[in-house]
Amino acid sequence: MANGKINVAVENIFPLIKKFLYSDHEIFLRELISNATDAISKLQHLSSIGAVKGEIGAPRIEVKIDKKSKKIHIIDQGVGMTTDEVNKYINEVAFSGAEEFLEKYKEEAKDSGIIGHFGLGFYSAFMVAEKVEIISKSHMDAPAAHWTCDGSPEYTLVEADKKDRGTEIILHIAKDSKEFLEEERIRTLLNKYNKFMPYPIKFGTKEETLPLPEGAKEDAKPETQTVDNIINNTQPAWTKAPTDLKEEDYKSFYRELYPMQFEAPLFNIHLNVDYPFNLTGILYFPKIQNDLNLQKDRIQLYQNQVFVTDNVEGIVPEFLTMLRGVIDSPDIPLNVSRSYLQADGAVKKISNYISRKVADKLSSLFKKDRKNFEEKWNDIKVVIEYGMLTEDKFYEKAGKFMLYPTTDGEYLTYEELEAAVKDSQTDKDGKLVFLYAANAEEQHSYIESAKEKGYKVLLLDSPIIAHLIQKLEGEKENISFSRVDGDAIENLIKKDEATVSKLSDEEKETLKPMIEAVVPGEQYTVQLAAMDSGGLPFVLTQPEFMRRMKEMQQTGGGMMGAFPEMYTLLVNTNHELVGQILQTKTAKKRDRLIQQALDLARLSQNLLKGEALTTFIKRSVDLIK
Ligand code: ADP
Ligand code: MG
Repeated sequence: MANGKINVAVENIFPLIKKFLYSDHEIFLRELISNATDAISKLQHLSSIGAVKGEIGAPRIEVKIDKKSKKIHIIDQGVGMTTDEVNKYINEVAFSGAEEFLEKYKEEAKDSGIIGHFGLGFYSAFMVAEKVEIISKSHMDAPAAHWTCDGSPEYTLVEADKKDRGTEIILHIAKDSKEFLEEERIRTLLNKYNKFMPYPIKFGTKEETLPLPEGAKEDAKPETQTVDNIINNTQPAWTKAPTDLKEEDYKSFYRELYPMQFEAPLFNIHLNVDYPFNLTGILYFPKIQNDLNLQKDRIQLYQNQVFVTDNVEGIVPEFLTMLRGVIDSPDIPLNVSRSYLQADGAVKKISNYISRKVADKLSSLFKKDRKNFEEKWNDIKVVIEYGMLTEDKFYEKAGKFMLYPTTDGEYLTYEELEAAVKDSQTDKDGKLVFLYAANAEEQHSYIESAKEKGYKVLLLDSPIIAHLIQKLEGEKENISFSRVDGDAIENLIKKDEATVSKLSDEEKETLKPMIEAVVPGEQYTVQLAAMDSGGLPFVLTQPEFMRRMKEMQQTGGGMMGAFPEMYTLLVNTNHELVGQILQTKTAKKRDRLIQQALDLARLSQNLLKGEALTTFIKRSVDLIK
């Protein structure tokens, strides 16, 4: 029998542990199971080098709740500890480790929540227990040890009669931690932190249905038997070699990771390096919704198969945080704040590696099966566009597989796009103009009229496209993007015979003030244009720059300041109705025609709403009466 006093400077460390780590109490279980896992790994290592003789069997871990006597048991079949070792590892090492940890992190820990990542080791048990016992039998020929400590620096250490190798930790759960005596609570924790740990973890039992014996009647009731309930998959897919895995294995691992996700992932990327850092993992591309904020199931970070966090900010490049999956690396420092992480050289390398692997995968998918890649494009484009915007290296690589869909369902690479419009879409300054629509429904009439003129119209509809376009224009030479309802379309050099105006200059001079008198000048600039006589009488366009800046503001960034709603009203001097306006002598009748033509133009821009729409409908009825 030995009584002792743990030698620490901080008189009573336990109240401190409780106080500082309040929000992360649950990590005690992860810490104790990690220790049990380490103990089994040590045993296997000793056995493999012959230091432990004989069969060691298949060691495992068990977690048991004894609700009646308010205890949790964590039992392992690992190396165990002799009395001397308990003295050394628990009384000295673990304790000083805990003390050092608290000293170092008590300030930082309060606001950053990093404790949960780091863990406090064995002493985290005192966050939930008022008394802790260790009963341990070493693999060596020595009597078992029984250590008891009630949370004060005093402990007792006596011999015990445990015969089988391994360690049992008994937590006497404190009153304020009763929640941990609930089976459901522990099950949830095991599922969160220990789902993929390398040795079997038993938690209770379950009923298993036996297969029907051969020749059994069809309506025979299958027998059941009670078996151990093992809560973990000891060999998760990411720990295996990519060559040993089939497509189906990746898919079923995804379901294991995210049981609530019914939609299969589009494809995956297996990460596997051991130099200059160690990292394994599998990333999945899910179908990404256009809503960037929608990401419930996130990438999980593990260290040696122990779950650490699902906040991978700083470790995974920002644009890839929309993906799902796991990464496992013992080399990611966790006992530091996020800002430090971002500055850390090793972490930067890891982040770059991940980014490069994703680019390589996309590139190979594109090359191997372009059709398939095109089919997936709409579900992955946001990630790619976001990556191009935020990572220069990725931008360079993505230039080869970034696709520009057209409103006709083609998917062109940049090179192909350039070649396709080279001869037909140059403006007066010699610039190549790429026309695009952001919404095929809303901009339907503009798309149609551009297509009639023989132009190619892209369909670029992701929420951040304005930012990317802005960047592309800056990087590439002599090109510009213009939305179909923008005014740039009028600057395109027309290939066929330039449309000649049917109105004389004199007539035009009479017409313009007539229209300006009706159209509100602060919103519309009137411009006469000779257009296709079969088209619309009035067409509204919006300056590309202004509209784009406004869009960029809405998705963060762009220039600051309020951009007014400004439109150019193009009056088609070749249209029959415009000729009619000019002929109409009664001012009232004429104004009504102008108003009607303006409203039609607004309608095709989706701008006619509320009272203006009601008035338009009334006027239309009057006109057809
Ligand atoms: P760490 O795990 O980081 O070493 P801990 O405070 O968790 O720190 O544990 C301290 C030491 O106590 C361990 O290094 C190990 O030597 C010993 N130990 C703890 N739990 C066990 C166990 N279940 N079996 C054997 N040794 C253990
Ligand atoms: Mg530990």
